[in-house]
Amino acid sequence: MDLPDYAIEAKGLVKTYAATKTTPEMRALKGLDLAIPRGSIFGLLGPNGAGKSTFINILAGLCRKSAGTVTIWGRDIDERPRDARAAIGVVPQEIAADPFFTPAESLEVAAGMYAVPKAERRTAELLKALGLADKANAYVRQLSGGMKRRLMVAKAMVHNPPVLILDEPTAGVDVELRRQLWAYVLELNRKGVTIVLTTHYLEEAQELCDQIAIINRGQVVACEPTTTLLSRMDTRKVLVTPESPVTAAPALAGFETALTPAGGFSVSYRTGQSSVEHVLAAINAAGVHIKDISTEDPDLEDVFVSLTYAAEQKADA
Ligand code: ADP
Repeated sequence: MDLPDYAIEAKGLVKTYAATKTTPEMRALKGLDLAIPRGSIFGLLGPNGAGKSTFINILAGLCRKSAGTVTIWGRDIDERPRDARAAIGVVPQEIAADPFFTPAESLEVAAGMYAVPKAERRTAELLKALGLADKANAYVRQLSGGMKRRLMVAKAMVHNPPVLILDEPTAGVDVELRRQLWAYVLELNRKGVTIVLTTHYLEEAQELCDQIAIINRGQVVACEPTTTLLSRMDTRKVLVTPESPVTAAPALAGFETALTPAGGFSVSYRTGQSSVEHVLAAINAAGVHIKDISTEDPDLEDVFVSLTYAAEQKADA
């Protein structure tokens, strides 16, 4: 069988949550287009409320899309819902382990739900891979939070899906466990599993993902190789408090300036092209006396804002 180029492909995906007595109608996805290459570790990055979980819930069959098409492993989720779902394993954000099963039982039940024949079940192998072999017969309620989360990953893999989706896998997870999870994820990827993970931590995406899509307000505002995306983030800001407050930011040749509260201003520069030293020289040349300065690194929020702004400009043009 030919393997699909894209593990997941969404076109014009729309999700509208109906209004309730207390909440207005919510358009969580507004025509999302996304193509996730087979074999990649793909990050879905975006602020809270961007629509990441909605997208994943649609993939997992937990939420009905309002419009658009989605294929998983080349299988349309409307035309072949079962086949599409069989191609993914989803590790949900919340830990939802049955307290009355042991990890081994829990995996057997999950495998049963996917109709995996007994002879093909990999319960022991999965428990071992996730460091749970010695807890195989403990009650789930006796496991630590980290162990429960690893069990969720094992459960998502019982049917050996070619695509694994992790929704905020390391929210509230300690460093040690994070490392273990990453090691396992990387190993799965090496074996050919396509990994999709959502996060609102840039660092996490940066470390693991070869490609990142930034989602904001239900749309993809950027989708690029991680290295390309990071190179956009080389803007630094110098915040200046002048001796006497200004009413307009001074024009400095080669720099972008903006007025800040209380009569100060900011100067942006790109690390590859300039330096704080050049900024100070320019301020000096403009005849501004500095009382205080500080610098600010760009955070993801800045990147979202600038990418979203760029996307809106393009849409308007
Ligand atoms: P993210 O995972 O990126 O934080 P979500 O997909 O959870 O974003 O949410 C996207 C938007 O849809 C948010 O404004 C959220 O409040 C809204 N939303 C999510 N789930 C529901 C729901 N079941 N009913 C109504 N609105 C929802």
